[in-house]
Amino acid sequence: MKEILSGNEAIARGAYEAGVKVACAYPGTPSTEILENTIRYREIDSSWATNEKVALEVGIGASFVGARSLVTMKHVGVNVAADPLFTLSYTGVNGGLVLVCADDPELHSSQNEQDSRNYAKFAKVPMLEPADSQECLEFTKLAYEISEKYDTPVLLRTTTRISHSKSVVNMGERTDLVREAKIEKNAAKFVMLPGNARVRHVVVEDRTVQLSKDGCSMPINRVEMREGKIGVITSGIAYQHVREALPEASVLKLGMVHPLPFDLIREFAAKVEKLYVVEELDPFIEEQVKAIGIPVIGKEIISICGELTPGRVRKAFGLPENAATAVEKLPGRPPNMCPGCPHRGVFYTLNQLKAYVSGDIGCYTLGFMPPLSAMDTCVCMGASIGMATGAVKVLSPEERKKVVAVIGDSTFLHTGINGLMDMVYNKGAATVIILDNRITAMTGRQENPGSGHTLMNDPTNAVDFELLCKAIGVKNVRTINPLDLDECRTVISEEMERPETSVIITDKPCVLIKREGIFKAGAPLQVVEESCTGCRACLKIGCPAIEWVPSSGKKGKAHIDPLLCNGCDVCSQLCKFSAIQEAK
Ligand code: SF4
Ligand code: SF4
Repeated sequence: MKEILSGNEAIARGAYEAGVKVACAYPGTPSTEILENTIRYREIDSSWATNEKVALEVGIGASFVGARSLVTMKHVGVNVAADPLFTLSYTGVNGGLVLVCADDPELHSSQNEQDSRNYAKFAKVPMLEPADSQECLEFTKLAYEISEKYDTPVLLRTTTRISHSKSVVNMGERTDLVREAKIEKNAAKFVMLPGNARVRHVVVEDRTVQLSKDGCSMPINRVEMREGKIGVITSGIAYQHVREALPEASVLKLGMVHPLPFDLIREFAAKVEKLYVVEELDPFIEEQVKAIGIPVIGKEIISICGELTPGRVRKAFGLPENAATAVEKLPGRPPNMCPGCPHRGVFYTLNQLKAYVSGDIGCYTLGFMPPLSAMDTCVCMGASIGMATGAVKVLSPEERKKVVAVIGDSTFLHTGINGLMDMVYNKGAATVIILDNRITAMTGRQENPGSGHTLMNDPTNAVDFELLCKAIGVKNVRTINPLDLDECRTVISEEMERPETSVIITDKPCVLIKREGIFKAGAPLQVVEESCTGCRACLKIGCPAIEWVPSSGKKGKAHIDPLLCNGCDVCSQLCKFSAIQEAK
């Protein structure tokens, strides 16, 4: 059966066909849709975890008792999961375990551009890298075979283009494994005390050598000889760009990027006149090829930053762009919070109060954009509260009052809670605002332990943030309506004055929330033209529904697009002339 699938959909299908029983993830672009598709297959128990480390631990637990498991995350998520990953490399698996890490070259939706292939080398685990949706399905299945044959977790690396682009996929049937999950005690393999781990380290090194040798005859590492004099070693999406940009070049397409099949590379290098490596981001293949004494050209011509395109490859080789590779430049469109977003009033207030805002990862990071301009730092998931603790340790008592950490509900549960426990424990005098919009909004509205529903759509317990904060020792916890600017200003400024930890929880759902009955839009507002003085105060909220209509010889007037307005009423609170009213 054939279907047009994205890379993410194909990985989900591959996991289903491979007999996977457990799939777990924390959502992160561009990996999110994998788990949103495993729920199509009821044979797979799919769940969102509170963070990537927990997701991997769930996968490990299922693997150790014999089931095949799938764990998915974006590249920065692997940093969170790195602790169990490195030791899992030593224990190996029981049921096959595949960890998908989706990289984001060009930082379409990420805080850095790290190259996860380095994790494969660092953790000493094999990594496969598919180049299209068909390979996403096939490599996922193969990854389970490698995992069980070589007793190792397998990393499957995708990049944004592979994750999100669609192509025709031949689908197969599910292979339900005959074995049942059951407890098999084996402390020497699964308890990594130093004595056991020393033995397993030798196993890991032998495994890497064996995989490198076996990789030379794996069909996923293939040589395509052509007429041209140059040879290119490449993998993943870069392979597609090379085929399009350099159709005459001979290619060694690597499906397994770690460990590298060194003998095959030597053979290929001997057959071509000039050897290149075309790879996105780091010189991962290039450095290893150079290390075995083979001269190769790579980062001298291919940028270490950003996403490759066929046009960029042609340019690197001194070739002109052609019609197929030229990309039309589109006008830039800055990101913005949605009309009616419950975070807008909070950031407006923080700007007015001249707070030093220690920010976090989520759509509310857009509070940094003008005109709100109310976020001063953003490093990684959950870092806002810890960074605020660090800042107040060294600031003067007056400056200390300005420090406010902001964090979303999902991010707070991901790793923010640890920061808050630390702040309370170490007597950090800062204000923490938990922006509870009842969903993991940035990645596309996924459920989380605060939302009251599981990924499989079952109702479940919803975390009570107020009780949770009190339980870990926060004495001052207040809940506010973030759409009420007066309330925001009063409560936030009072808590900023407080010389001890305090938490403010904002209580309004995301405007895009899917579940019925949670978000209720208000009636759209309009600007009464005759009353508008053109003072521009309403523009300071930065709502995309408010536009400025210039008029000749005058200042101009505000206008609200009734199709975009969600009736949150925040802008009308800024208009001193009562010019913003409910649309008639
Ligand atoms: S705040 Fe009121 S008066 Fe000022 S521009 Fe906006 S609608 Fe017009
Ligand atoms: S009420 Fe004002 S701020 Fe709210 S969505 Fe409508 S235009 Fe935007």
